Amino acid sequence: MIYFDNAATTKVKPEALEAYNRISLGVFGNPSSRHGAGYQANHLLDEARNTILKSLGLTNYKIVFTSGATESNNLTLRGVAHQYKNRGNKIISSKVEHPSVLNTLKDLESEGFKVVYLNVNETGEIDYNQLQKELDKETILVSIMSINNETGSTNDLAKINELRKAFPKVFFHTDATQSFGKVNIDLSSADLISFSSHKFGGLKGNGGLILKKTISLKPTATGGEQEDNLRAGTVNVAGAYSTAIALKNSLENIEKCSKSITFIHDFMLKELSEMDGISINSPLQGSPYILNFSLLKKKASVVVEALSNKEIYVSSVSACSSKGEPISYVLKAMGKSDGDAMNSIRISFCEDNTIEEAKSFIKALTAILSEVHDR
Ligand code: PMP
Repeated sequence: MIYFDNAATTKVKPEALEAYNRISLGVFGNPSSRHGAGYQANHLLDEARNTILKSLGLTNYKIVFTSGATESNNLTLRGVAHQYKNRGNKIISSKVEHPSVLNTLKDLESEGFKVVYLNVNETGEIDYNQLQKELDKETILVSIMSINNETGSTNDLAKINELRKAFPKVFFHTDATQSFGKVNIDLSSADLISFSSHKFGGLKGNGGLILKKTISLKPTATGGEQEDNLRAGTVNVAGAYSTAIALKNSLENIEKCSKSITFIHDFMLKELSEMDGISINSPLQGSPYILNFSLLKKKASVVVEALSNKEIYVSSVSACSSKGEPISYVLKAMGKSDGDAMNSIRISFCEDNTIEEAKSFIKALTAILSEVHDR
């Protein structure tokens, strides 16, 4: 099998799984319980929080463990909007955010919040001038992703931070799912940061929201007082601890991984650029982890299936939107034609991928493109 769909999910790191199993079997107490087994679990939870915040250099932040970035994005958008609605009713985001942001914003619009979706340029980066113009006294939140999940396009978080400083009461949230543990970005530009563990070798169903200690949010689920009253429910200590292990391991190897992935990415980019009937969508300066291209003559779904039959796994539209949305709204926002936006393929890498796999992919793709009918 050749697995080039690491932006959808990654294989769990053995050390993260080992920690999950060890804690599930050995330290299974409820961290809220007031007895030895509970204290032991609570101690590990604190250790997980400290490890994550320290390894990212984030002081003055707290962390709420969630089921993943979908929940963290929901908690941020609904939580800030409902908690701070007395300050204003305007939220600024972008047209290319993940559906967990866009669909939540739609809900907030139906409640009466005004949402502005910023344009992106041909490289998928937000329009900073438009952001500057839209920021005003009514704005309570800016939510902009760090790296786009379909194209690897990156936004300049430091620049966004500078712009919003003109309105000190505006919170800045970033969905860092595709950069977290992979790309060295200074996350301290943002007040709230969403991430998912399974994108960097942790377990599925785990993730978190990192937020400045001073921010309070209206919780999306009510119940007990866990997680500083921000997320009710018994905390998944083993999941949180394995997340910390996966992140620590990822960050320790970030330079080495980035070097080997960039090598494979650059090889693929060169080969694909020279092939007939392909146009590259990912920007040159984007994340090396994601490479998106369109088929000019063939149907992407047919090619993805043909690759899958050869046990080569890539993605046509992002896994989260493929059911309801056969056309990529991300590529459309970047100014691509309907044909290009309906026939894009995303390949996404992890540190286990090799140059031999990349060569096999190019060979298989060349053969498939010569075999399948034009669309
Ligand atoms: N945001 C981005 C940018 C993503 O890529 C994803 C995963 N596709 C999510 C949010 C949601 O993550 P999860 O499904 O783990 O909740």
